Amino acid sequence: MYNPKSLKAEEFICHDEVMESLAYADANKDNIELIDSILKKAAERKGLTHREASVLLACDIPEKVQEMYDLAEQIKKDFYGNRIVMFAPLYLSNYCVNGCVYCPYHLKNKKIPRKKLTQEEVAKEVIALQDMGHKRLAIESGEDPVNNPIEYILECIDTIYSIKHKNGAIRRVNVNIAATTVENYRKLKEAGIGTYILFQETYHKESYEKLHPTGPKHDYAYHTEAMDRAMEGGIDDVGLGVLFGLELYRYEYCALLMHAEHLEAVHGVGPHTISVPRIKHADDIDPGAFDNAISDDIFCKITALIRIAVPYTGMIISTRESEEVRSEIIRLGVSQISGGSRTSVGGYCDEERPHDTEQFDVSDQRTLDEVVKWLMEQGYIPSFCTACYREGRTGDRFMTLLKNGQISNCCHPNALMTLKEYLMDYASEETRKIGEELIQAELANIGTDKVREICKANLENIQNGSRDFRF
Ligand code: SAM
Repeated sequence: MYNPKSLKAEEFICHDEVMESLAYADANKDNIELIDSILKKAAERKGLTHREASVLLACDIPEKVQEMYDLAEQIKKDFYGNRIVMFAPLYLSNYCVNGCVYCPYHLKNKKIPRKKLTQEEVAKEVIALQDMGHKRLAIESGEDPVNNPIEYILECIDTIYSIKHKNGAIRRVNVNIAATTVENYRKLKEAGIGTYILFQETYHKESYEKLHPTGPKHDYAYHTEAMDRAMEGGIDDVGLGVLFGLELYRYEYCALLMHAEHLEAVHGVGPHTISVPRIKHADDIDPGAFDNAISDDIFCKITALIRIAVPYTGMIISTRESEEVRSEIIRLGVSQISGGSRTSVGGYCDEERPHDTEQFDVSDQRTLDEVVKWLMEQGYIPSFCTACYREGRTGDRFMTLLKNGQISNCCHPNALMTLKEYLMDYASEETRKIGEELIQAELANIGTDKVREICKANLENIQNGSRDFRF
């Protein structure tokens, strides 16, 4: 039954194949010879199969786990350097017709005020985000064909791209909305979106159906096959994710890798990003009600093993996680983080962090400036770059450059130039000082003389008031 090339959810995420892989992993979790051979293969930076990777996840031998962490850190450096891409979520509407039992937007929650941003409100939110320094957004919305039809989402995207406040601009809009039709994905593509993100929540079909008892999201196959429809609609950067805490993490990890293998097998391009959200407290949601919560240690291990198994994928972490956890998993594999986030509809325009329409409680409540400074103090370059998709480097073109290690010729100088813009336009004095020193030091790490010279000239142009340079 298992067939990674099939377009049927239950064949490419075949339950029996997951169970057999987990049994194989259990049987081999102390098989040092096999574990060493898998680690050796992983060191070639070409990834691992779901079965091989599951063995590593099952293995608890401390020295081997340490080897996994060291390798993840090295692979992260090789593919993504010390750059961390910054983004913010923008909640458009919390109207929702689904019954997801872990999400406060579920239809039966009569306590939360329902809100949907008007275009004027979208513009205000975007100005607030631009004034923080953001250039990249992920728009979020509940599923409601009457209140949030695709036309509404498209109108919001148009509004977001049209706002140019002072030196601000949103240059990439990623979209996290419910599974939809090929036709609608085509419209999103035409609207100029970056990545289409959809979390699977859980790959376990039986649990999925229980966790989504009502509404269109109940349909496991329609949800699981969404990325194939997105790709058919012309979107070639898609983002996967599992909501950890809903099901057994080893099941989810194995199936997530099978999904990535399926996308490679069918479309020739794997996931552009993988997100690793964990379930959080929110309005009427108590994370304690879910049995499968994972510890910080396991969370770190999963992150490291996604990095090893799918070395080319971007990895995203949100403000669901605390400063401490974020620090650890950035080291082990994460390449994109949100900063200064508000998870409520209209939240960026409020002085105080509003709680009444929050989708989940935010653990990391620091401002974007604080997060940027914190990253730089740890030796990272916060990057506001959005160049790739604007230069047509998407899908397999992006993956080929990344896999050949060529992408850093663009990403590194682009990170420095967009950081410079941030420092000039939005940073506090202290952050600016640290950033200027970092940029000077990092110029030396640009591989070719020619690129370094162009980058230096552009940094000077930015200093003199010009904006938006890119390789
Ligand atoms: N409504 C869209 C859908 O159905 O896919 C996507 C947008 S939803 C605002 C974004 C994600 O938030 C969901 O896919 C889910 O994984 C996550 N989420 C929902 N409730 C959560 C909670 N209590 N804690 C953490 N994350 C949660």
